[in-house]
Amino acid sequence: MKRDYYEVLQVHRNASELELKKTYRKLAFQYHPDKNPGDKEAEEKFKELTEAYEVLSDSQKRAAYDQFGHAGVNGNGSGFPGGGFSSDGFGNFGDIFSDLFGDVFGASAGGRSRSSARSGESLRYTLDIEFEEAVFGTEAKIRVPRQVSCPECSGSGLAAGSQPETCGTCQGRGQVRFQQGFFSVNQTCPTCHGEGAIIRNPCQNCKGTGRIAGEKNLSVKIPAGVESGSRLKMVGEGSTGLKGGPPGDLYVVINVKDHPIFVREGDDIICRVPISFSQASLGDEIMVPTLEGKQTLKIAPGTQSGHLYHFKNQGVPHLRGYGRGEQNIQVVVETPTNLSERQRELLEEFARECGEETQPQHKSFFSKMKEMLG
Ligand SMILES: [Zn+2]
Ligand SMILES: [Zn+2]
Repeated sequence: MKRDYYEVLQVHRNASELELKKTYRKLAFQYHPDKNPGDKEAEEKFKELTEAYEVLSDSQKRAAYDQFGHAGVNGNGSGFPGGGFSSDGFGNFGDIFSDLFGDVFGASAGGRSRSSARSGESLRYTLDIEFEEAVFGTEAKIRVPRQVSCPECSGSGLAAGSQPETCGTCQGRGQVRFQQGFFSVNQTCPTCHGEGAIIRNPCQNCKGTGRIAGEKNLSVKIPAGVESGSRLKMVGEGSTGLKGGPPGDLYVVINVKDHPIFVREGDDIICRVPISFSQASLGDEIMVPTLEGKQTLKIAPGTQSGHLYHFKNQGVPHLRGYGRGEQNIQVVVETPTNLSERQRELLEEFARECGEETQPQHKSFFSKMKEMLG
């Protein structure tokens, strides 16, 4: 059984982001594997903490967790029906950690990094999609430029057949000790930059870095209902790590193109349809565009400009949860222009026939104005 995330982090359900961060920091410090070498229980606790923090520190995931519990945020049960990207707890383990702690663990990381393993960079990719693709979801093929492992040296950075030499300055420790008055201070070795080894014969293909510029074709599942600015995380699809370090993540940022006639407002769609002055006065039946194609709309006699008609449950599918928004049609009454002689005569005659009773809001507006201005 998974424990409640709030219980794990020892905070109230309405704890602020700052509170969460503080408690997480305190507890993670206590259970960090570097402080508890070989302690399985501490390691488990640490993982549990980090998973809880990753969910609760992300406002969207937190909302999903508050509503649906673990089912709302884990693996395929995540709020994203497409499920093509991960929201599991461990993806950016390293990330949050270095964000929070900076150099606190720098020293021990230095000890560990004798192998000079470093995680790859996380990348951002902006993906332009069509309006309808955002509404109904799609699968996009993208080609992401990123650093890949050098095929010549398999990422070691060494020329074929050569071995790294132990650094003479630090005897392979990666750190050197300085005496300063009474204190002795450990510093990163200036010769090998903490690697403990020196590559005399670097791989020519990657200049000894172990990586080269490359690219990867990926397929991204875009869930129905995404908005411009939505960010999909693809764990491990960033640049390859250095010297065996873990890869970075890829963030696909969605940019939805404008539609010629539909405007999206949250999960509702609004479409402004022009109608004539006579259609508005006499009523009519017109065809209007919706996401599903053309539909008949009955305009009642005496419809005012700006009136909104709602087609319920025909808007954008809710990304989290069931159902859809509304498809709204707003009618805009057009004032006739380019009148012919005859049309002008008729309108003038019409105007002579019209009084206040043909203008429903006239009386109330002008009496209010009179009250105000006398
Ligand atoms: Zn050295
Ligand atoms: Zn190489």
